[in-house]
Parts: sequence; C-alpha cells; structure tokens
Amino acid sequence: MPQLNPGELEIDLFCKGLKIDPSCRLDRDARLFARTRAGLGSGLEIVIPGDLKDIWMNVPVEEDFCALSPYVMRFTEMLGYHVVDTRSGQTYSVEIPETPSWYERKTSSGVPMSRIGVLQGTYLGIYISEACMFWTPQENANCKFCTSGVNVGVNELTRKRVRDVVEVARAAKEESGVTFTHFNAGYQWEDMPEHTRAHGLNRAAPFVKAVREEVGGFIGVQVAPVLPRDHWKYDWLTELGTDHFSFCYEFHNPEYFKKFCPGKYGHLGQDAFFRALEYTSKLLGKGKVSGEIIAGLEPIEDTLKAIDYITSAGAFPTVCIFRPLIGADLEHYPSPSYEDMRRVFEHMWRAMVRNKIPIEIVPNIEVSLVVQPGDAAYLVPRDRTWKAYRRRNAMLRKLAKPVVWWKMKPHPVKASATDHPKLPPAPSAAPKPGSEAAA
Ligand code: SF4
Repeated sequence: MPQLNPGELEIDLFCKGLKIDPSCRLDRDARLFARTRAGLGSGLEIVIPGDLKDIWMNVPVEEDFCALSPYVMRFTEMLGYHVVDTRSGQTYSVEIPETPSWYERKTSSGVPMSRIGVLQGTYLGIYISEACMFWTPQENANCKFCTSGVNVGVNELTRKRVRDVVEVARAAKEESGVTFTHFNAGYQWEDMPEHTRAHGLNRAAPFVKAVREEVGGFIGVQVAPVLPRDHWKYDWLTELGTDHFSFCYEFHNPEYFKKFCPGKYGHLGQDAFFRALEYTSKLLGKGKVSGEIIAGLEPIEDTLKAIDYITSAGAFPTVCIFRPLIGADLEHYPSPSYEDMRRVFEHMWRAMVRNKIPIEIVPNIEVSLVVQPGDAAYLVPRDRTWKAYRRRNAMLRKLAKPVVWWKMKPHPVKASATDHPKLPPAPSAAPKPGSEAAA
C-alpha cells in the first residue's frame, strides 16, 4: 500500500476516523472538542504538514465508525504526535494546534469566550441565532444529518450580544491571527410579517457592522437564502461589510434534498438556494461565494453535478464528507468510501481549474471541517495545467495584497444595521429586526 500524500490522508481520515492511543496527552495539548453548530466540529483538530500546504482537519474520533478505523494516533517523545496505519505500519507526522489562550477568558459581560465563538481550523466560527426552527416540535423538520438542535443552548449560548462577539473577534484576530470571521445561523421564521421577521440576514446585520467597524478582517455570512424579492438584502449586508456568502443546499439530487432536508424543502426549495447563490456570486465576483454540499449520501454522479453547477456560477464548492454524527437521525448510516471521495475531490479540483475560480487569495483561511479546494491540489498530477492554475492564483494573491491589508483594519460603515429603506416601518410596539441582539 503506497504512502498517502497529505490530501489523500485527509480524505481517508474523514472517511474512516481515528482512534486515540492512551500515549496521547490531548487533555493537555488539544483544542477542546467543539461540539457546536451542525455538529461537524465534534472531532479532533489536527494539522497534516505537506510540501504544497499544511492541511487543517477536524478528524472524527467519537462516532461509532471510528472504532473500526485502521488509523491510530500515538505520541512519543521522539516522534511527537503521529498517525499509524495499522494495516501497513506506515506513519504520518501530525501536529495538534494549541487551544487559543482566549478560550479560557470571559467577555466583559462574564461569558466564557469559547461559548461565543470557536476556531474551526484558522477561522472564527460564530453561531448567531437561537436553535434552528426546523428543530422545534411544531416543525419537526430538521436536516437528518444535523445535530444543531442538540448542541445550541447546551454547548453554545442561544442568543449572543454584539459586544461579546466584538470582544471575541478582536481576541481571535490579535492573539490567533484570525483573518476571517464567519457568522452562521440555522433557519429562522420566514413566513411572518416583514417587520417581525427574524431572518438570518437581519440577525447577522448588527454583528457584521460591528466587526467591520471595530475589528476588521474578512467576514462571511451563512444563513438560509432569501427569496428573489428580498435579494436586495444581500446588497445591504455587503454594504455593512460582508465579504462572503455561503449557501448550504446539501444535495443536488432533488429527491435526496427532499428526504434529508425536509425543512429546507418545505420552506425554501432548492431553487431559492440556486437563485441566491447566482445573485451573490454576480454581486461579489468570482470565488467569493460558496455552495455547500454533503458528499457520501446522494449518488456520486449528483455530487459531481453539484460541483459543476457551483463552479459554473463562479462560486467555489465547500464539500463536507458525510459524518454520521452522534445524535443525528443518520447516526447509524455508514460513512462514505475513500475511493468515492477521492473521485469527488479530484473532480472539484478540475472544475475549479476549468472555471478559473480563484483560491487561497486571503491568507490564513484554513477550514478544518471540509476538504478545501486548495487541499485537492495533492490529488492530481502536477502537470502544466496544474502549474498554470497555481501560478495564476499566486499572481492574484500578490495583486490582492493592498486590499487584504486595507480589509484587515476596522472601518466605519455608513449603512444602518437595523433600518433600510426597503424594510417596512415596524409598528412602534414591535422591536426592529436585530435590535434585540444589539445590546
Ligand atoms: S437548516 Fe438543517 S443543517 Fe442547518 S441548522 Fe437547521 S436542521 Fe441543521
């Protein structure tokens, strides 16, 4: 069995998981297991060093399938942390990122900072709303792979204050070198009068503006899409400081979308995701928007079609390898095969090259929950096309340096996070959208 390269090892670890040998001192060395958001951060954060780039990943360690994994992580004074493939005896050096010093601190209102946001790789992820409405007993329509209804409110605060978020974003930028803050929310009621709607975009607005004005750095928003009549909200969020939107439509095959995402199917429909992705990709430009999908549940051919669609719209695919999370309805589903997943990510690389989607332009954004487009550079021959694409990205990176420098600084924002000419005036008794979060 040949030694795997870092990209291949990442994929195999996502598919098979990892066992932890008692020689490991994770309670002392590793980041806390961050069981947050949809639950994908439940694993162990590791870094696989490589010649093209170091790969950050959140490797599954808790789920049942990990007990059958041939991979074991060990620690020795001589080798440090390393992963052993017990089938062949091959070893792979890995690093364990330290727990950020600010995780232990409290915000000025007394909340532990790690309950406001956590690092997922090298970016700061912050969940901004209460539990996703699809998890409520009235709806009972949660996505079948998700555990956010189990985690939010237990491991994360349900409602976050803007001040706390600013303090955490500042600590993450100054002490951990974070360049990207990502706001995420589950589904919030959409079928309400406009003035009382708690749509995720309205929720995100005060946080985006505050981080842009007081911290700086790149900002991403991932909430349910709005319908075309409300696409102006993406312009509004961009004025407030958003640099990136992402859309989790999960499955390209409509039958799988309906079966595994009943809430998204019933309230939004796949089309809402497609229209919003296309709109924001035009608004922000190539490579600034992502379409998020899960590989390993729907037929592989559909996943390949999703990648073709997303890249043809000028966006980049964020492909999660299906993880049967503890507590999810699909907890007992098998995790996918390495061979299938390798095929998916090779295809992703080729689609990115074909559509000239820029990657790795902003420094230090390593997403540990997925195989990033740049990680897939390890999966294909280093031929002329491969070199030309990487040269092009290197040139774009150089050209973008002044913009990156400017973006990393805080800047005043003219637009209001709670008022917009297109928002109907709220009755005086009703709180304005977002105002409750703007404490
Ligand atoms: S929309 Fe689906 S994946 Fe997202 S939080 Fe709600 S149930 Fe989970």
